Amino acid sequence: MMTFKEFLIEIGLKGNANVLVHSSYLKIRSAFPNISMDRIIGSIQDVLTEKGSLIMPTFTYCFKRLDGSNEIFNRLNSKSKTGAITEAFRKYSDVKRTSSPTHSFALWGNVTKYFDEINSPTSPLGKGSIMEWLVERENSYILMLGVDFTSFTLGHYVELKAPVPWSNYSPWDYLGVLKIGVSVYGEQNLIEVPGCAKSFVNFEKYLIEKNIIKNNSEKNMNYYYFNAKQIYEEGIKYFKDNSEELLCPMGSCLACDSRREKFLV
Ligand SMILES: [Zn+2]
Repeated sequence: MMTFKEFLIEIGLKGNANVLVHSSYLKIRSAFPNISMDRIIGSIQDVLTEKGSLIMPTFTYCFKRLDGSNEIFNRLNSKSKTGAITEAFRKYSDVKRTSSPTHSFALWGNVTKYFDEINSPTSPLGKGSIMEWLVERENSYILMLGVDFTSFTLGHYVELKAPVPWSNYSPWDYLGVLKIGVSVYGEQNLIEVPGCAKSFVNFEKYLIEKNIIKNNSEKNMNYYYFNAKQIYEEGIKYFKDNSEELLCPMGSCLACDSRREKFLV
């Protein structure tokens, strides 16, 4: 049986690459039974080497809420809400976690020469963010293990750069969510609040139909591995021409409905 490390090499992971990983531990275990989180993380690091970069989202979405019910971000203790593997990874002694109260990242390897713990851009997934850094480098890739494009964080960067009509409009008013991040160090005013990502799956379908990415699976685990800049450029075209496709069907999502009402009617 193929090991997880052999699998990574087979799908094209190489030394020195900068790789953003989105993952489902449950799905990975369905393809690689009993594999530990340390083995998963260690295998990726082994292939990339320290000249490469391993990056994971450790988002906590600590936006200020009108009713004061929001959590307060603490870089050292706040649990990642983007999967078990990301929560394990951020605690490694040689991993740096950035300080965005809403969209922090855990970083290892080459990328830590460019960002340190205090990184917290006022555009959490835009200018000055890890997303921008990735797209500016040819040698950057996105690895998605057992997740679909609802986890495609780069899509929020594409929304800002295309831009889609609602790029700096927050659709979360109905939840009383403000454009402010809250951490133990205080409040940070934000330029943008990333919206709903559910319909990024329409971009995923488009990429598969156009044969730009392949619908791969290893046993029950679907996966993608693609160049960040290439898919960013495809995204700019698609997001410009098909912005309505990036909203959930009418009546199914209050966030997307508010964008449709304000910008498309
Ligand atoms: Zn939606």
